[in-house]
Amino acid sequence: MTSDNNILITGGAGFIGSNFITYIIDKYNEYNIINLDLLTYAGNLDNLKEVEGNPRYKFIKGDICNRELVEFIFKEYSINSVIHFAAESHVDNSIKQPDVFVRTNVIGTHTLIDVAYKFWMEKPFSYKKEYIRECNHSSDDQKLSLPRFHHISTDEVYGTLGETGLFTERTPYAPNSPYSASKAGSDMIVRSYYHTYGLNTIITNCSNNYGQKQHDEKLIPTVIRNAIHGRPIPIYGNGKNIRDWLYVLDHCKAIDIAYHKGKAGETYNIGGRNEKENNYVATKICQTLDKLKPKQKGSYLDQITYVEDRHGHDKRYAIDASKIENDLCWKAEENFESGIVKTVKWYLHHYNVDFRDCNDE
Ligand code: NAD
Repeated sequence: MTSDNNILITGGAGFIGSNFITYIIDKYNEYNIINLDLLTYAGNLDNLKEVEGNPRYKFIKGDICNRELVEFIFKEYSINSVIHFAAESHVDNSIKQPDVFVRTNVIGTHTLIDVAYKFWMEKPFSYKKEYIRECNHSSDDQKLSLPRFHHISTDEVYGTLGETGLFTERTPYAPNSPYSASKAGSDMIVRSYYHTYGLNTIITNCSNNYGQKQHDEKLIPTVIRNAIHGRPIPIYGNGKNIRDWLYVLDHCKAIDIAYHKGKAGETYNIGGRNEKENNYVATKICQTLDKLKPKQKGSYLDQITYVEDRHGHDKRYAIDASKIENDLCWKAEENFESGIVKTVKWYLHHYNVDFRDCNDE
């Protein structure tokens, strides 16, 4: 790996990171990807089978909180940009073990960005705040200036919405779970490295993702798995909580565009304008399964069971994606109804379940 285009991706064995690595290796010939991942319970190298053995891809097992290791990687691979996915990401786990979330999401992000800043400051190119400001105001401002630190975050930092309204980039932060609080903390650290040191940062805050390779613990895989195994399908509370669902490959395309064309120091919200109640999500999955893998008797809908609500469960998330749509010309392509059929089929293959592969949605 000798090229100048060495990107450090953290958390690349997880759900979104692995989809992104496969996407970026496939799309760009000029990038070398170094994937640093601790392989916690959420990381799985099977997610990266498509890139295994590719000379432009290198996996390193390790912790983003390990400063020595991170420094070694920057020097050894001459890293000139970072796309940072690694995190503890499951809200339920954060309620049981908040300390792990503070460590990985806050301390880990700080370790990474601090090493990046110090490493890049020693480089010969001009790397000053004034330089970044110039890039932002030049006529050709929509181009990537290296080095860049792209931080992947969530819309959960904004807290919860009532019946109306949307999260914009100007919505005040009001995180309600230890997960969202730790992500909010990491966003603030990244923001401060732009304002204090002039580091070329981008933050993207995305709504709920779904699609292939998501960990079993999350809502959509849980519904599919329990349905096909004939078990109760657990839905929190009354199932009326609303999430704004985005197909994971749309998220990858948005990251690609924000990474290459986003302005230094900016935040972009990413969302699919696909607000759905949890009841609707579970129903849609059951109806899809009824077509693909009919039960001998009855419907998968009969398995839906309401369970005690999650503590501090946010009522509604919904993203206003106008900024990334207007400034960077990104738009979600997949609607929820088609994306969920693709997702259900992927999980049926993944769980080795035979099914009728019909195309009607
Ligand atoms: P994930 O839990 O599937 O994957 C996280 C990855 O990070 C795993 O591979 C894990 O092994 C790795 N990791 C954890 N701790 C680490 C450490 N200390 N050092 C190195 N690697 C470590 O998460 P995901 O759903 O793919 O989310 C990726 C990022 O996107 C996270 O930052 C998350 O906050 C953000 N995000 C996720 C969603 C979503 O719906 N999944 C939505 C918006 C934003």
